[in-house]
Amino acid sequence: MNTTAQYAARAADALARCGVDNLAADGSLVVTTPIDGTELVRLHPTSATELDAAITNAAETFAGWRATPAPVRGALVRRLGELLTEHKSDLAELVTLEVGKIPSEALGEVQEMIDVCDFALGLSRQLYGRTMPSERPGHRLMETWHPLGVVGVISAFNFPVAVWSWNTAIALVCGDPVVWKPSEVTPLTALACDALLRRAAAEVGAPEGLHHVLLGDAAVGEALVDDPRIALLSATGSIRMGRIVGPRVAARFGRCLLELGGNNGAIVTPSADLDLTVRAVVFAAAGTAGQRCTTLRRLIVHSSLADDLTGRIATAFSGLRIGNPFDEGVLVGPLISDHSYEAMRAALDRADDDGGILVTGGERVDGPDGGVYVSPALVRMPDQTDVVREETFAPILYVLTYDDFDDAVALHNGVPQGLSSSIFTLDQREAERFLAQSDCGIANVNIGTSGAEIGGAFGGEKETGGGRESGSDSWKTYMRRATNTVNYSDELPLAQGVEFG
Ligand code: NAD
Repeated sequence: MNTTAQYAARAADALARCGVDNLAADGSLVVTTPIDGTELVRLHPTSATELDAAITNAAETFAGWRATPAPVRGALVRRLGELLTEHKSDLAELVTLEVGKIPSEALGEVQEMIDVCDFALGLSRQLYGRTMPSERPGHRLMETWHPLGVVGVISAFNFPVAVWSWNTAIALVCGDPVVWKPSEVTPLTALACDALLRRAAAEVGAPEGLHHVLLGDAAVGEALVDDPRIALLSATGSIRMGRIVGPRVAARFGRCLLELGGNNGAIVTPSADLDLTVRAVVFAAAGTAGQRCTTLRRLIVHSSLADDLTGRIATAFSGLRIGNPFDEGVLVGPLISDHSYEAMRAALDRADDDGGILVTGGERVDGPDGGVYVSPALVRMPDQTDVVREETFAPILYVLTYDDFDDAVALHNGVPQGLSSSIFTLDQREAERFLAQSDCGIANVNIGTSGAEIGGAFGGEKETGGGRESGSDSWKTYMRRATNTVNYSDELPLAQGVEFG
């Protein structure tokens, strides 16, 4: 069997095990694998009529789901978590086929889905509101949290299933149906998730209309953006996309949760444990072929360490096995497309023009024909020039140097994005100063910028969009808050001592 047929067959088998077995094969949405560029299947994009019917159905389903007690809603995500556990390797296989992640990272992504189901199940009994002391005698003042409505989810290619689960597991326990527009690059993983959720719903007696998948490109996403029945639009992707989506949702007074691009930096100070730093930096910068929103892109190193650390990272980069993610020992799989490599080359050329020195990498390397395989690039930069201040979604690590700690923090914060950040130091004062001064949504000490756990709130500031997903109290975005005052006295005192009549 040639690889084209082999990968298509593997995808079809994994899909069938997840419950998807009636795929149309002649649609206009061509799904390929970045491993060798071959076609997996051709799907039909969702039509405007189907899209409208999906949102209508989700909105109708909301009426009943909102009235279902939250702990009963929790039973659905419990079952979903069980099914995800059962089909962990099937979903991971699809993630590797559609995105090119190495199996360990693909399995890790599915584990995140299972973890967030656990979290959401517990949350279903903990959607707490507060009670505040009322200033009026015989009165009770409290806040209560209520389901919000239909949640629209738009997701990016690089975390094709985890981002869906962060949104969907939480939305479902909060009482909200979900309409999902996955990346046009990753519809197969989406169909598998949808089938598993539908099965979970059928088994626990939850309504069918709680979940819908819309297949297609930006135009399908834009229909979600503009539809007033979408109470919350959670959109993950590039800053370019967020600039379009954010104002349009705001124009209809909808709620928007934006998870956009990052340009993540790490500071390495003289006291850092360099062995640990090198390991953390290499995973954060080169893992997932530099295609994580939290990928480490800027290393801000004390000048006394710069030569030594750069040399060690270059050696580690050169030792990374790059190639077919299904091959044993491979740590760096393909880029998602030719376009990604073009963007990488253009960024490296600009860095060169700005006086940067390419230490290693940045070249196409051998891999299956038809795939785009590159060596992670390490570039020493004299300054944080415009190209360094932009996110290039490919494995490029820029190295900048500093002498004064305040300058390092200023360099770190001197970019438009604000997602993830790290410091490598054994000096507690430096660590605490960094945690207080990093302007990112995520700030770490002695670990890399990528690989967040689901228990914390995930997201970033500035052009990253300000949204928070997953753990902590991110659930509040998926609900509406009501402030309630109850008078259990037979008097009618007005607040602030106002007298009226
Ligand atoms: P992208 O912006 O090209 O596409 C993301 C999604 O938005 C896709 O589903 C796409 O169809 C849709 N879309 C694009 N334009 C749209 C529009 N005008 N209206 C509605 N929908 C639209 O991003 P990508 O290439 O798939 O993913 C990479 C980007 O995503 C990177 O910038 C990365 O940093 C970011 N990302 C961010 C996070 C986060 O949590 N902050 C997570 C993953 C990826």
